[in-house]
Amino acid sequence: MNADALSIASDVRSGRTSAHKVLDACFSAIKERDSEVRAFVHLSEENARKQADAIDKMVADGIDPGPLAGVPVALKDNLCTVGEPTTCCSKILAQWAPPYDATVVSRLKNAGALLVGKTNMDEFAMGSSTENSCHGPTHNPHDLTKVPGGSSGGSAAAVAAGYVPLSLGSDTGGSIRQPAALCGTVGVKPTYGAVSRYGLIAFASSLDQIGPFANTVADAALLLDVISGHDVKDSTSLSEPIFASRSLNKGVEGLRVGLCLELIDGCAPDVAARVKEAAASLESAGAKIVEVSVPETRYGLSSYYLIAPAEASSNLARYDGVRYGLRIEGADIAATNVATRTQGFGAEVKRRIMLGTYALSAGYYDAYYVAAQKVRTFVANGFARAYGEVDVILGATAPTTAFSLGEKAADPMSMYLSDVFTIPSNLAGHPAISVPYGSGDDGLPIGVQLLGPAASEELLFSVANVLEQANGAKR
Ligand code: GLN
Repeated sequence: MNADALSIASDVRSGRTSAHKVLDACFSAIKERDSEVRAFVHLSEENARKQADAIDKMVADGIDPGPLAGVPVALKDNLCTVGEPTTCCSKILAQWAPPYDATVVSRLKNAGALLVGKTNMDEFAMGSSTENSCHGPTHNPHDLTKVPGGSSGGSAAAVAAGYVPLSLGSDTGGSIRQPAALCGTVGVKPTYGAVSRYGLIAFASSLDQIGPFANTVADAALLLDVISGHDVKDSTSLSEPIFASRSLNKGVEGLRVGLCLELIDGCAPDVAARVKEAAASLESAGAKIVEVSVPETRYGLSSYYLIAPAEASSNLARYDGVRYGLRIEGADIAATNVATRTQGFGAEVKRRIMLGTYALSAGYYDAYYVAAQKVRTFVANGFARAYGEVDVILGATAPTTAFSLGEKAADPMSMYLSDVFTIPSNLAGHPAISVPYGSGDDGLPIGVQLLGPAASEELLFSVANVLEQANGAKR
């Protein structure tokens, strides 16, 4: 399926095509290639067909089905879908189907989308390669020997393989932007609170945000506009709406763009070269490029790997063999609890639970967790200073192009480093977008990252749109 979401929706709304025809094309693309890419872990073909029936009937009756009429959308497997498996790609939730829809899922349904299935991910969103999944890895559609990035690797691959024009992922430290960069799609981490987390299975609640993958900036903006907005079911949801697609064609005349030294430092030469070319293209479109330094971001990774595991150790305490999913019987409740968690969680999840429990334990809490929170504020203050000088920041999304399957699996530290440029935005709660910009020496996609202050989506998308045009013109 090569069409973008905006044209599909416009064709379905006007009756030029039907939701059924769109869905047929989507499922035949999945059936043709997903046995090798493995982006999906569950297909909801029957439900999607019912949704398509309903959309086609509405159009026939003269009712507008909404801005995503007949558009197939894939969902990361940590987003709750009523009655359909939602497993976080963990054995501990393997048999679980939620009794309710996530707010983003309800909003997609109300907008006329067709929910085609659930995508592969690192277990509980912990990872950067989609190799930590109980279903096995997803392969990068551009080169099947490479990872798609992670943790939302299945959602990135589903868009990059052309199965669906849109998908949703979640980004706690980079899990939308990094796979978007590695798969050559647009990926957005919205401002913390812009999208309701109700029905997103929690990893680290103060960092988690749901966001879109798309092949175009305009499609990503369309999807973000549908899913964002206040939700009474999420107390951290923003009261003011954000507008992603309102000023897409505003241009960058007079805009101050900060080329951030720390967000290119240490990345591969081909990645650094693309970031500099992206800066040059913004300059020729009328922006003013200045170098900025946010040295505080260098401490982001260390802070994140205390705060995220600490929150995860608390959030994952609920998987006890009593309330959800897997239950392995033991002699008493404590033994049941241990047996269930020992068999149900994979190695990376256990590592995070242990790190987090340690960081929160008496005697170490001040030295680790509290110190990490102070560093988090330090990073946010660094950005605040930078945004006194520039309107948006430009940097790399990931240090390299897609790496080989298995390459980093044995070395957690090198895996963690693939999010070194994305994590600072999560700590600050700020929005950031990865936009495809050329390719590496190996021919694989490269993404550049645009960062802005809280609620700056409207601006970020307008800059991303200029980069997308420049990238298209270059090709
Ligand atoms: N790769 C990072 C981690 O493993 C970020 C994950 C995410 O954003 N969900 O924690």
